[in-house]
Amino acid sequence: MPINYIYPDYEVVRDSSRCITCRACERQCANEVHSYDLELKCMVSDSMNCVDCQRCVSLCPTRALKIEKTTNTFKENANWTQSLITDVYRQAESGGMLSTSMGNPNPLPVYWDRMLINASQVTNPSIDPLREPMEIKTFLGRKPEKIRRDENGRIITEMSPQLELNVPIMFSAMSFGSISYNAHESLARAATKLGTLYNTGEGGLHQDFYKYGKNTIVQVASGRFGVHKGYLDAGAAIEIKMGQGAKPGIGGHLPGAKITAEVARTRMIPEGTDAISPAPHHDIYSIEDLRQLVLSLKEATGYKKPVFVKIAAVHNVAAIASGIARSGADVVVIDGFRGGTGSAPTRLRDFVGIPIELALASVDQRLRDEGIRNNVSLVIGGSVRSSADVVKAIALGADAVYIGTGALIALGCHLCRSCHTGKCNWGIATQRPELVKRLNPNVGYQRLVNLVTAWSHEIKEMMGGMGINSIEALRGNRLMLRGVGLTETELRVLGIKYAGEIWS
Ligand code: SF4
Ligand code: SF4
Repeated sequence: MPINYIYPDYEVVRDSSRCITCRACERQCANEVHSYDLELKCMVSDSMNCVDCQRCVSLCPTRALKIEKTTNTFKENANWTQSLITDVYRQAESGGMLSTSMGNPNPLPVYWDRMLINASQVTNPSIDPLREPMEIKTFLGRKPEKIRRDENGRIITEMSPQLELNVPIMFSAMSFGSISYNAHESLARAATKLGTLYNTGEGGLHQDFYKYGKNTIVQVASGRFGVHKGYLDAGAAIEIKMGQGAKPGIGGHLPGAKITAEVARTRMIPEGTDAISPAPHHDIYSIEDLRQLVLSLKEATGYKKPVFVKIAAVHNVAAIASGIARSGADVVVIDGFRGGTGSAPTRLRDFVGIPIELALASVDQRLRDEGIRNNVSLVIGGSVRSSADVVKAIALGADAVYIGTGALIALGCHLCRSCHTGKCNWGIATQRPELVKRLNPNVGYQRLVNLVTAWSHEIKEMMGGMGINSIEALRGNRLMLRGVGLTETELRVLGIKYAGEIWS
């Protein structure tokens, strides 16, 4: 008899006095946790398959279910934790890399939570956004150093292409393939309604979504999936993906099971084959090579669209961003190590990269020190969780932020970190038709609009509280942030003072 080394992480607890054996949980669970036992005449569970997605708990009509973290433990060991031991068992069985998805869940410092926002009192009155103008519109793109005028006072400075965002929040890159058609439709329609942008990720643009082009960033990644002239022309901006916060230094992998006919057509690859994007772009080994691609994309689209370059937050991120700012790119995107993903090797997701807060502060400072901050706009992503994080990011130097995980949570994601299995019970990270239809794009779109609208109200209130009435005046205004529970080094990198410290 085979030995079962691994005990389930979660246990399904069913209150038999409440269960009416409606079998909704059985129908809802793509992991086949629940079933009806004909002999016992009751529902039974296989907790081994449970990923704690909470779908059954949410849909049980009698609240008969809850999922509990197992209380079964190995002997205490501060060095060899239960999850490390279990991972060794898994790898000893499989011989393969551990896979996971979504962002890094480990208890590393969240610097957003160690920074507090200022508010006006007495001498610098606060502004009431309900009664006074409050501008949260943001323009992304290279800004001129000087404005020149002709003899009649007309501005004659030639502007680089700019993107106008009604809110400093965009939806980050998530490919069709890694997420469902209905999730993409929700994002595209919400971006259009909100006057912001969503991002195709590296999966190409489904033909049905060309109509949302003015609110779409089309991505060019190392695999070049779905990239052609019409695709480049369709978007409002082009993003070259050099790296991703969840898995810096490696490429992407979408399993063949997720490459349905529609995904295959959109990506221009055969149905059912694995979509593997290489770690590097095979034509980019230097900033000069990157410049060639930036200029090629601009040439191909008549110099009408800003080109973004996205990199993962890594140790020397400031120097890399400085190179990108000189490459002709219009926007630098930095993706932090807590950023989400549809699939990543667990060890890479958890131990490669650096926190976005530190990366952002050092990049903004470096570009200012070198006098090239206006060469590019700065967009960050990688676990922006609330309107307060948005305000702190802008005060640290960002022009705008990307939200990915937060957007998926608005669509119903419960962060079970099982996207890589393709069995998302919420219809988001799946291509299985019976699961995809669980996400109604009419509902999803409205929930995204509500989320960003709510955050916009909160951003305006926080800005008003600081006595600031435009994003422009908040950007890089680190006087508006104070640190708590941070070391001298962390404060220095973030460029902020400790709470209560006098600014000299
Ligand atoms: S959904 Fe709830 S009531 Fe229905 S069978 Fe499952 S546990 Fe019982
Ligand atoms: S998208 Fe779906 S599978 Fe992925 S973490 Fe969220 S609920 Fe789980």
